[in-house]
Amino acid sequence: MTATQIPLLEIALPVPLRRHFDYLPPADMSPEQLAQLVPGVLLRVPFGRQQLVGVLVAVKSLSEQPEHKLRAAFGVIDEQPALSPELLELCSWAANYYQCAPGEGLHTALPALLRQGEQARLRGEPVLRLTTEGKGLPEGALKRSPKQAALLAALQQRGQLALRELSELDIPGTIAKALIDKGLAQKIEVTPDSGVQPATLLREPPLLLSDEQRPAFEQIQYHSFNTYLLDGATGSGKTEIYLQAIAETLKNGKQALVLVPEIGLTPQTLQRFQRRFNLPIVALHSGLNDRERLDAWLQARAGIARIIIGTRSALFTPLKEPGIIIIDEEHDGSFKQQDGFRYSARDLAAMRAHRLGIPLILGSATPSLETLHNAKLERYRYLRLQARAGNAKPPEIELLDIRGETLHEGFAQASINAIGDTLKRGNQALVFLNRRGYAPALECHDCGWLASCNHCDARMTVHNNPRHLHCHHCDHQRALPKRCPSCNSSKLQPLGQGTERSELVLQELFPATKVIRVDRDSTRNKNSMQTLLADVHSGEPCILVGTQMLAKGHHFEDVTLVVIIDADAGLFSTDFRGPERMGQLLLQVAGRAGRAEKPGRVLLQTHHTDHPLVQTLIYKGYHALAELILQERQLTQLPPFRHLALLRAESKQAQQAVHFLQQARQLAEAIQAPSPALSYLGPLPAMMEKRGDRFRYQLQFNAAQRKPLQALLSQLALQLEAHPLASKVRWSIDVDPQDMA
Ligand code: ADP
Ligand code: ZN
Ligand code: ZN
Repeated sequence: MTATQIPLLEIALPVPLRRHFDYLPPADMSPEQLAQLVPGVLLRVPFGRQQLVGVLVAVKSLSEQPEHKLRAAFGVIDEQPALSPELLELCSWAANYYQCAPGEGLHTALPALLRQGEQARLRGEPVLRLTTEGKGLPEGALKRSPKQAALLAALQQRGQLALRELSELDIPGTIAKALIDKGLAQKIEVTPDSGVQPATLLREPPLLLSDEQRPAFEQIQYHSFNTYLLDGATGSGKTEIYLQAIAETLKNGKQALVLVPEIGLTPQTLQRFQRRFNLPIVALHSGLNDRERLDAWLQARAGIARIIIGTRSALFTPLKEPGIIIIDEEHDGSFKQQDGFRYSARDLAAMRAHRLGIPLILGSATPSLETLHNAKLERYRYLRLQARAGNAKPPEIELLDIRGETLHEGFAQASINAIGDTLKRGNQALVFLNRRGYAPALECHDCGWLASCNHCDARMTVHNNPRHLHCHHCDHQRALPKRCPSCNSSKLQPLGQGTERSELVLQELFPATKVIRVDRDSTRNKNSMQTLLADVHSGEPCILVGTQMLAKGHHFEDVTLVVIIDADAGLFSTDFRGPERMGQLLLQVAGRAGRAEKPGRVLLQTHHTDHPLVQTLIYKGYHALAELILQERQLTQLPPFRHLALLRAESKQAQQAVHFLQQARQLAEAIQAPSPALSYLGPLPAMMEKRGDRFRYQLQFNAAQRKPLQALLSQLALQLEAHPLASKVRWSIDVDPQDMA
């Protein structure tokens, strides 16, 4: 074969095709420059009529494409690779495992600005420094202006101050300007540099570990890979162990990466880290703009940021000196991405830590069944905290049987009394209800008609403020009808409870008390959550009512009562993970009560006091519940005993989606005949068959081993890409799906 000996660039592009693309080097590139190109470099390339930013995966000299068909890359964006070999490999592995196109996998790991073609350069930061004249001033100068004197002293002590630090020190900009005008200080831009070790890593002393915390903490090894499950109730002191493990890591000159659930990255969490450590911490939260996000990414890569805290995608943060990965609330669903690159940050964290040879700590009060199972098989080291740290006592959960009870807008009389008592004692109450809006349905009292969405198999939720009907699945909104479209009756009534309704009821029942509603609607604006919670933290008696947003990450010192309005939905969910999630959510919510010195009480309203899952959870605890569900999963051949994947397809015409999946099943069976070790189920309609005017179906793969499933999916995906029906439906593969809907 006479292949061209011209070097070729193998490039991953952000397109949904499961392959790399070959390009000729840019026309103006010299052989020397070419020789220096390394994988991970970003280039601009032509793609059809577009220009895309791609990631160089390899330089090679053979192509399957005839040379005249190849196009040349436009140019290199930055000779410095944007992605390290470590991240390149991790992403490639993940794209493969999760059956996503390699370019889409790699692009997930890049900050938006780099994806758009910007260079990865650290920004200088404006700082204030003393001039020679300023340095020469004796102590006690500038007496007439104490503020200027204070700034001068701070500068003399610390060498320089970043302008943003001035506001932290409560020094107005005018004071800095005064020093500059006097020629004593100057403003310059500096690139932040790494390796400035402050004299002390810690800003505050660590707590003395309890007899239970210490052995758990001492098991952690810092120079080798191991996954540790830190299993301890809310308030048992897990975070204190994270902080001390991070301190060890920092002492070793390494960085720490901490992942938290999407709604768990609260200012409180962040402050706790900032109070403890004297080193730069970056938080990758949703409030950052693209530039700030890139800055944080670059600071982590340069080793300037020593602690990185973020949600799911922060897993891909480049680290100069990686030392530990911690995942708090590891059971949380937000660690799995639900679209595009459907990776699990928790599972990938294990892969990353393994490759780096560093420890991974998974923490939770209610570990996922997968994780508990791995701990049982001794794949993970099991660290257990039973008691609550400090003096706090675990809350007792009481069942409130509401069968046959006349409820006051969803509240049992006993719940109302308990809230009253709590407020009278000067404490706070939390009412949990996992449904936003006023009511989950609108019903005609005369004929039973229910307002449903025209685009989904779903009811419309009634919202009060502003008044309208809203589909929570496709976002369709319409006005509340005045009359029943079916029988023309005017007796339309909201059915069931949402947070808006509970808020109004509570406000009527306790007019003198502040009622604070926390859900997606009330916290839509930036900082609104903080504003809402400021009242709670003031400690005044109040009632909090809200959805699962309240369940995570928050510490409410004065909440001594939690009322759970409706826990029954999870019991009868058609998703096999329903009971597990219900148990986790109930305990997370219950854990909000009595965290500090005050004991807590939890009331659970239910129609199913005798249900074995409820009984087990309340009287034997989460671990007994987990054991019960695990036994069921083993019998029914579900994870963690088996491995699942879903091929989903949706289309405006139901038949097309079904047909596509039928063909897919045939292709799959031709690759791998069905057997007990690898079985197929479907096509079946999704739980919500119609959503947003599309009909949704799925084909389920259930395998005893991951490897054969992987092999099958990789082949099948390539065949499906080329399939004539593939362009007519929306389809995707979900490996280890968390949500079966
Ligand atoms: P978790 O992360 O498991 O919810 P935390 O680490 O937040 O638990 O601890 C709960 C509370 O107990 C916090 O207020 C924390 O400061 C306190 N605490 C934790 N460990 C100790 C300890 N060893 N001694 C005293 N107080 C502790
Ligand atoms: Zn009617
Ligand atoms: Zn809808």
